[in-house]
Amino acid sequence: MKPHRIRMAHNLVVHYGLHRRMQVNRPFPAAADDIALFHADDYVRFLANVSPQILSENSHSHYRQLKRFNVGEDCPVFDGLFDFCRASAGGSIGAAVRLNRSDADIAINWAGGLHHAKKAEASGFCYVNDIVLGILELLKVHRRVLYIDIDVHHGDGVEEAFYTTDRVMTVSFHKFGDFFPGTGHIKDIGMGPGMNYSLNVPLNDGLDDQTFRGLFRPIIQKVMDVYQPDAVVLQCGADSLTGDRLGCFNLTVKGHADCLRFLRSFNVPLMVLGGGGYTVRNVARCWCYETAVAVGIEPDPKLPYNEYYEYFGPDYTLHVEPSNMENLNTSRDLEKIRITLLEQLARLPHAPSVAFQTTPSTTEAPEDVEEEDMDIRPKCRIWNGEDFDDSDHDDEMTSSKTSDLTAQTR
Ligand SMILES: [Zn+2]
Repeated sequence: MKPHRIRMAHNLVVHYGLHRRMQVNRPFPAAADDIALFHADDYVRFLANVSPQILSENSHSHYRQLKRFNVGEDCPVFDGLFDFCRASAGGSIGAAVRLNRSDADIAINWAGGLHHAKKAEASGFCYVNDIVLGILELLKVHRRVLYIDIDVHHGDGVEEAFYTTDRVMTVSFHKFGDFFPGTGHIKDIGMGPGMNYSLNVPLNDGLDDQTFRGLFRPIIQKVMDVYQPDAVVLQCGADSLTGDRLGCFNLTVKGHADCLRFLRSFNVPLMVLGGGGYTVRNVARCWCYETAVAVGIEPDPKLPYNEYYEYFGPDYTLHVEPSNMENLNTSRDLEKIRITLLEQLARLPHAPSVAFQTTPSTTEAPEDVEEEDMDIRPKCRIWNGEDFDDSDHDDEMTSSKTSDLTAQTR
């Protein structure tokens, strides 16, 4: 989860020249007050103040807080933790602002997608839920927002945040059964006014491209028909790819990107976010290819020379082959899942109406970045771990306009 993998993805994007087909924006780091629009004040204060140095003082009250906020083991304290949270959250809020202003059709923040963070609790390498914050910003302008999560893990933090509302529909495809975070049962469908507006697609090891497409396309087609969202947020966690160090699916980059390709075809404002992904060379491949899909080009499978070229040996290609692992998702299981979820969707009223409240957007738009400034980064230091030892960081949020999507050159 170190920012290094985002830097690698960004580097590939730039070496393929994809940045010339979109606007690159530098979002404002989210302020503590922005983060507190979802997270509890005492949790935000804790994140803003904690540091390895403070912890080394080893007091009883620190220990209590670490336990209370679930910080320490999976979610360690590191230097620059809060700056990292501010950059990730600022990227998704900035992406929402661009979509709200119709400045972009697709807004990408590969540094976002941290779907496990809860209101007052870190979880699964996530501290601040940039997705919830981005969706809250979108809801200022859009009546209904659809959230889709293709990380191998259940999108629990986002589901929980919107479990009782029909203004956000959440759909998560994930490995289910003896797997982190343990939630995401097909029978978890939402509560109160949010009843039937949470969809969970529980899957097993070895999910391949064809099986995934056979579920994703019909379910999402039905969701789009019935719910008619005004904006879509797609979490593209890359730990659902084949060969992931923590995942157990067998998707190729093309199979993963098919979700984005399909959603793009609906021409609804789209926010595209990162998420998990633990075999970093494949994370970079995937997010670079998905950036290409967003701007509507098919990149050369042969990788251009780039700063991390040696990571991509021995074949130096953009794509990955599936492994020979067994697909434990049987056609009977899949048919049952498809029927159950299509029935759930059939219970929904078409496009639920919303008592519309206009909330003027006061959030500032991110600034544009000119090509020559692409490598000038803000001064705030994001990470000073051993393998990321300069002040560089990759919190650019990229967005593309339709007019740029078809253009061969800018
Ligand atoms: Zn994950």
